[in-house]
Amino acid sequence: MGEGGGEGEFIALMKPVVDENKCTGCGNCEALCPAVFQLIDGKSKVIDPEGCDFANCCEAAAENCPEGAITIEED
Ligand code: SF4
Repeated sequence: MGEGGGEGEFIALMKPVVDENKCTGCGNCEALCPAVFQLIDGKSKVIDPEGCDFANCCEAAAENCPEGAITIEED
């Protein structure tokens, strides 16, 4: 439990990127992490790149993408 506050003091900013050439639109990422990924026109889109910091599901989505289409970049 915490120190409270701290907004804007993230050490590592996780930024998910979807390779649309690999994405088949299977929907795994949206199911696992709907705050960040959403299927639009059959492809996964990152609707909230900063959502990873609080939703904490981007890595699971990346690991469970059967096409390896999601990469997480850390700033
Ligand atoms: S899990 Fe991978 S292949 Fe499936 S919709 Fe998401 S990015 Fe596309």
